[in-house]
Amino acid sequence: MNAFSRRGLLRSTAVAGLGAVVVPGTTAVDTASASAVAQCAHCPCPPAELTGRVVHPSDPAYADASLGWDELFSHYPLVIVFAQNTQDVVNALTWARQHDVALRVRSGRHSLEGWSNVDNGLVIDISELKSVHIDRTARIATVGAGLNQLEAVTTLAKQNFAVTTGTEGSVGLSGATLGGGFGFLTRWLGMACDSLVEAEIVVPTGTGCAKAITASLSENADLLWALRGAGNGNFGIVTSLTYRVAPLNGVAYIQATWPGTGDLHGVFDAWQSTAPHADDRLGTQLEVHKNQILLFAVLAEGTPAEAEQMLAPILSVGSPQITAQQGNWGDVYAGFQVPIDVEPANWKFFSQFTRKPFPKAAVDVIAQFMSTAPTDDSNFFTQAFGGAVVKRPKGGTAFPHRDALFYSEPGAGWGQRGTQPGVCDPLTPQAQAWIAEFSQALRPYVDGAYVNVPNVGMQGWEKAYWGSNFRRLRGIKTKYDPYNVFQYEQSVPPA
Ligand SMILES: Cc1cc2nc3c(=O)[nH]c(=O)nc-3n(C[C@H](O)[C@H](O)[C@H](O)COP(=O)(O)OP(=O)(O)OC[C@H]3O[C@@H](n4cnc5c(N)ncnc54)[C@H](O)[C@@H]3O)c2cc1C
Repeated sequence: MNAFSRRGLLRSTAVAGLGAVVVPGTTAVDTASASAVAQCAHCPCPPAELTGRVVHPSDPAYADASLGWDELFSHYPLVIVFAQNTQDVVNALTWARQHDVALRVRSGRHSLEGWSNVDNGLVIDISELKSVHIDRTARIATVGAGLNQLEAVTTLAKQNFAVTTGTEGSVGLSGATLGGGFGFLTRWLGMACDSLVEAEIVVPTGTGCAKAITASLSENADLLWALRGAGNGNFGIVTSLTYRVAPLNGVAYIQATWPGTGDLHGVFDAWQSTAPHADDRLGTQLEVHKNQILLFAVLAEGTPAEAEQMLAPILSVGSPQITAQQGNWGDVYAGFQVPIDVEPANWKFFSQFTRKPFPKAAVDVIAQFMSTAPTDDSNFFTQAFGGAVVKRPKGGTAFPHRDALFYSEPGAGWGQRGTQPGVCDPLTPQAQAWIAEFSQALRPYVDGAYVNVPNVGMQGWEKAYWGSNFRRLRGIKTKYDPYNVFQYEQSVPPA
């Protein structure tokens, strides 16, 4: 990752004393002696020390270690622990509780509001937990929670297995799965969280301790239900994930490009009336940009000819340029990745689900806003639902949006990586205003929101993310995290 000069900002944050947490025996930004802090008088477990790869503000690795994927958000944690095993996570959570230090959990760093990081607190980063164990006979894979999606997809695909993931390889597998997780295989295999059958999770115990427990259909089944769609930073720190994996020998991958947006109405109508009802093996995404429309499709266990036939109603609109590919899912997935360095630095999205097809007026809104998009990278993104998404797995899930026709999000991307903090970019106010107005204009046509793409400041976000499941989530929160150790701007509060 690139690093712009964060030291100056760090110093000014410290001087201003923003939300400073002073730990006994140390200072807000100097944790070199953190392990030697005074013993907690009432703690039922021994004083904890931070273990693993521990990065302090004075370390050369700190600037990179504190940077998130979305550079719109900058945070300056007191200390970052890169856990090397579950015990490091137990120690970190215990330490944070014993010293009353705010904490956040982090995996792939793609939180779209910067909520996996915190000023003057402890970041427990599990991205270095990379183990993989695949039981071919049982069709079960247990992986360290630190895998990113590219690592998970390619590792499983080498053995001709797959689970649903999102499309961007650098996104954390944990972060995606615990909030639901959709992608090209969603209509075939369901949400990523639907295949999650077990998790190891470190939870708070007593008044100042922590321990690892298992969430599965037979142990703490209520917690497994909650982790399937509401697990991000709400109940504990997930250290390993066990999935039911599906055999997958190969896929067909189609990309179609329409120049300009003149065909938008035709393409969008054809897509929304066919894609959510197509053969379950077919997953599609539509991306409307300022100067082009892109359709991406993956057909599991199919040929390009079969895929093009299924997509014919869409591909017959205008004269798109079409490319087709067939191969191992891991190779195809790796092939369409965009390197992070060339992606815009700053991003702002607004998530929404749709249960009834968009009328002409809604597509007009898309056309109107895309014509004034702040950059060429800004886009209106959709993912077809239907197929296996409608089926709940055994034990159910906190993810509620089973009856959506499609997911969509207006997204603004701007700025060059590593040059300046996003808040200083002159385009930031324009991009933020554009996304706010665009999403507001679509409100009459959409319903609900996706917790993995949080809508900051949204009224009624609890219901928008989880519908009537929110009440049960609060009860489960009370059981596993009664003191609300895991909290952030839109976390589940105890009942
Ligand atoms: C470019 C881009 C593309 C995306 N595409 C898709 C897509 O195709 N499909 C889709 O479903 N989503 C997509 N998303 C949304 C994505 O699923 C979320 O941003 C996801 O939460 C990121 O996870 P992470 O581990 O990378 O991020 P992080 O910032 O590390 O974490 C995100 C959240 O999860 C929590 N968390 C992370 N790891 C753990 C853990 N082990 N235990 C408990 N809590 C944890 C964090 O505390 C934080 O609240 C996309 C996001 C981006 C930025």
